[in-house]
Amino acid sequence: MSDLESLAEEIDRDSTVVALTGAGTSAPSGVPTFRGDGGVWERFEEGQFTYGRFRSDPGGFWRDRLELQRELFGDVSGPNVAHEALATMERDGFVDAICTQNTDGLHEAAARAVSERANAGAKRKDGTAEATILELHGNAKRVRCVDCGRRTDADPVFERVANDDVPPRCSCGGIYKPDVVLFGEQLPEAAIQRAQSLARESDVFLAIGSSLVVEPAASLPRLAASTGATVAIVTLESTPCDGLADVVCREDVTDALPRLNELTIDDSDRS
Ligand SMILES: [Zn+2]
Repeated sequence: MSDLESLAEEIDRDSTVVALTGAGTSAPSGVPTFRGDGGVWERFEEGQFTYGRFRSDPGGFWRDRLELQRELFGDVSGPNVAHEALATMERDGFVDAICTQNTDGLHEAAARAVSERANAGAKRKDGTAEATILELHGNAKRVRCVDCGRRTDADPVFERVANDDVPPRCSCGGIYKPDVVLFGEQLPEAAIQRAQSLARESDVFLAIGSSLVVEPAASLPRLAASTGATVAIVTLESTPCDGLADVVCREDVTDALPRLNELTIDDSDRS
């Protein structure tokens, strides 16, 4: 039996399955990685995008951020088959939550696409209205007003920046900030605590396309393993958590995830 086959056997609707995704999940969609060879930080300075710069020079910050946004999402083709496989497993009740280090909003887009394709009126297996997606570093496709907290779609705001309306402001007069965690800014405590408890409660923890180097994501597989979960790592490169994993699958996420989804469905049909 292959690793993925035995993993699929452990994933049924009674087990708590938590997925964590990183840059490797979105790279096949055309989202460039930040670090490493050819990464975004070879072409941009991290210092342009700190929270301190946003506070002291919001106009300059937003002009640079527009360039970064074009670099990040200019070639993005939408969710890929790995996003869709995960969204399908989540919708069908096999995956309970998706925690992501990515800020591209592609899990949300995949969840929408999958539910639109499902039969009209078909209920989600978990009975909730929306997919459980925890964005550990925020979402770059949204902005948030620093004064009233209102969140809105980022595209029209970037449009305004392109037309020299800087810094872009909310109707309350407050300045908009990209709804992501900037350098020098606190991580979203509530989302992280939720991700940590999910990792502890999980029976199966899937780390997908993450190098598992950046905190807080890096410690989630350890938390899961410490409470006895089966930990599976799907990514092309080795990670610091490979030693504690029960399954290490060195495959591209766009090959492994659709297969895992198929195998899980087959298992549940048999049982
Ligand atoms: Zn406001």
